[in-house]
Amino acid sequence: MEKVIIIRYCELHLKGKNRGFFERQFAINMERALKGVKHEIRRQSGRYLIESFDEDEVDTIVARLKRVFGIHTLALGYKVESDMDKIYRAAKLVSPESGTFKVETHRANKSFPLNSMQISAEIGGRLLDDNKNLSVDVHNPGHMVYIDVRENGTANVFGSFIKGAGGMPVGSAGKGMLLISGGIDSPVAGHMIAKRGMSIDCVHFHSYPYTNMQAKEKVIDLAKILSQYACGTTMFIIKVTHIQEEIHKKCNGDYMVTLLRRFMMRIAERLALKDNAQCIITGESLGQVASQTIEGMTSSNSVIEKLPVLRPLCGFDKNEIIERSKEIGTYDISIQPYEDCCTVFLPKHPVTKPKMEDVLKEEEKLNVEELIEEAMRTVEVVKI
Ligand code: ATP
Ligand code: MG
Repeated sequence: MEKVIIIRYCELHLKGKNRGFFERQFAINMERALKGVKHEIRRQSGRYLIESFDEDEVDTIVARLKRVFGIHTLALGYKVESDMDKIYRAAKLVSPESGTFKVETHRANKSFPLNSMQISAEIGGRLLDDNKNLSVDVHNPGHMVYIDVRENGTANVFGSFIKGAGGMPVGSAGKGMLLISGGIDSPVAGHMIAKRGMSIDCVHFHSYPYTNMQAKEKVIDLAKILSQYACGTTMFIIKVTHIQEEIHKKCNGDYMVTLLRRFMMRIAERLALKDNAQCIITGESLGQVASQTIEGMTSSNSVIEKLPVLRPLCGFDKNEIIERSKEIGTYDISIQPYEDCCTVFLPKHPVTKPKMEDVLKEEEKLNVEELIEEAMRTVEVVKI
């Protein structure tokens, strides 16, 4: 009898020839998550088993796998030969010492001599005979005993399972370029899109020396957490100091954020195209702050030439975003105080509903192309 972790994945969505591709990517991502920890990953149809691990590393393994998208459930249990005595011995190990229980059997091997009802009845009966402190409650059991008879002559037996991260394996849905600030929202936006199977690279804009070095470190820390879900990330760090100085010098200061956003979007798209990323992702949420009105989005969106811009948080309340950032572990870093470049040269009365003709009139005062090229030359690349 071998202790194993049974991984079930969301297979419903997998169709035809895509299936092999998804499963391979999924296995690669699990391997990557478990790097440095002793284990073996074995495939069963519709399941994966983690085997040959050290018992004192179970918590580490489970914690890491909980961040792997595509996992539906995780269960710690036993793999035994498909033999009723052996199944029973494992069932005894996962059954409670007292209270109510129910046995539920899934039988993939249809040639097994007993059907699933019969297996459940027999194992349940034996558990009852063996322990007078147990009783069966099929409607509202205090504990479950799951028996999963596989095609290959083995059975998985487990007592409970925990929910995995869900979603699709990262790497199965292309790559996106996330605009990441040091705030709460953008890491959550990246997490949501990674959950749909997209790899994430990040771009961060800073205006050193107006913003300090800690601000940059903070964003790298956020990207590190995101990378645990996104199976790694490449971060591009770009200095926009000169762009802001030029806007400050030459344009109506109330348009600082509006104009800067347009530069960010243009630079992000160029980086994305170079980096083979297929979309831009932002943490904008409709109406959350003055710059995120639909007029503000229209202004920043209109400089994008080729790629779609995903704004997964658009329909969320701030509370919902905060809750998610706590769940994924970015919240505590995000709330550390920092200066974002958007707060440098911040006008007293930023335009909240910019009119396109006014935006263009202000922008005409700048050498846009030259400023973009100059900013792009400042790029620092951090592999995480
Ligand atoms: P966040 O919590 O992500 O900072 P926010 O609510 O503070 O969002 P804004 O500061 O208006 O909103 O930023 C909106 C979005 O613009 C961010 O979610 C992010 O995608 C992008 N963004 C803002 N500042 C930067 C930056 N310095 N570098 C990269 N992207 C940025
Ligand atoms: Mg912000």
